[in-house]
Amino acid sequence: MSVDNLLDSALVRLDEAASHLKIDPDVIERLKYPRETTKVRLMIRMDDGSRKSFLAWRCRYDDTRGPTKGGIRYHPDANADEAETLAFWMTFKCAVMNLPFGGGKGAVQVDPRKLSKAELERLSRAYIQAFARMIGPDRDIPAPDVYTNSMIMGWMADEYAQIIGQPAPAVITGKPVTLGGSLGRNDATARGGYYLVRHLASELGLNGSMRIVIQGFGNAGQHIASLFAADGHKIVAVSDSGGAVVAADGLDLDLLLKAKAEGLSVASTAGQANHELLKAEAVIGVDCDLLVPAALENMIHEGNADSIRARLVLELANGPITPEADKILASKQVVVLPDILANAGGVTVSYFEWVQNRQGYYWSLEEIHDRLRATMEREGRAIWNIAREKQLTVRSAAYVQALSRIAESIEAHGTQAFFTS
Ligand code: NAD
Repeated sequence: MSVDNLLDSALVRLDEAASHLKIDPDVIERLKYPRETTKVRLMIRMDDGSRKSFLAWRCRYDDTRGPTKGGIRYHPDANADEAETLAFWMTFKCAVMNLPFGGGKGAVQVDPRKLSKAELERLSRAYIQAFARMIGPDRDIPAPDVYTNSMIMGWMADEYAQIIGQPAPAVITGKPVTLGGSLGRNDATARGGYYLVRHLASELGLNGSMRIVIQGFGNAGQHIASLFAADGHKIVAVSDSGGAVVAADGLDLDLLLKAKAEGLSVASTAGQANHELLKAEAVIGVDCDLLVPAALENMIHEGNADSIRARLVLELANGPITPEADKILASKQVVVLPDILANAGGVTVSYFEWVQNRQGYYWSLEEIHDRLRATMEREGRAIWNIAREKQLTVRSAAYVQALSRIAESIEAHGTQAFFTS
């Protein structure tokens, strides 16, 4: 499925969840479309003196449950449809975790690897100049996503502070700790998924040492590898945009992390230790217990889903499995822990960061981990139980849970039945 119709394919999940609930038609009418999407052209001065423009978007999908929340992605293929779809998913993800947020998302169409550091800073500040009136600690709160990081969030928070004339750290999460960021934000997405798998392991029949395959070896992929490896599980294959490596008796994680720290692909480790080269696309077919997609959308589709040999898939990436592939996996009895639950650790610790910024009182790393673990276990267990009771996939159960919470908030303003009675 092409990225052009990503929102349509996401809305299939909305209709499916609605079919399991009694909800007012107002709810679907409200959730079918994003509330607000703004497109701008950012103009920046390049190092060689020329001017260059970049397309950028910010979408606030729905704010019924609170200010919108969602990352900013820098990617050459970024587009409005993708930003709106990611904002839709954020709406559901925040509701799944019962956070007091709606969903938003932002993007810039750029390959950040082709910019100098100074150009990257100018672009990031230009994004905030363009969207300063749309964002705000009580309105819309950005965060990092693909190819954006804590330093970029720091520049953005600083630009916002200059525009409004005072520091407002709660406007953006994922900042460096020294600039009001939260301890534990860096590995929060992976850690949330890790806590979830650990909590449900016995229900999933995964009590012993697991063989794990990871697709995408950036922030989420590297951290999940480290967390599971520390518990004695084996990482048997990993990929990134430059290729993949495989080793049936376990890859050397230090070697992989060193390659990434030097800006190299994991494929550069082939031939060292026991690492064998593999095509990036082949990684999902490697025999394992747990497959972790941690790259981009639509990587598992009708054409390759049947090759999956894992028993469990943990979606750290957003939207890595198309609806068609979902059906194939369900028929193969592969359990999928869906993105809106599996990778919600990131937005949960972002919420903790926002709370700490607003209260001006900061928690220890241990407190963050305890609160994250408790939230993942509470919401993960609730969804697991819905799946069992209603005989649904975990994804459908997560959408049912989120939709019933959002519907309750929308219906609290009055329904068609209320206004016509
Ligand atoms: P990142 O930019 O740090 O890493 C992305 C990785 O994917 C890189 O290693 C890249 O090489 C790899 N990749 C790109 N194309 C690939 C391909 N065709 N095959 C294999 N690998 C490929 O990004 P990230 O922050 O780790 O995010 C990864 C996914 O997780 C995204 O879908 C993102 O939306 C999602 N996510 C991230 C967070 C977070 O806090 N970082 C939170 C929620 C969801």
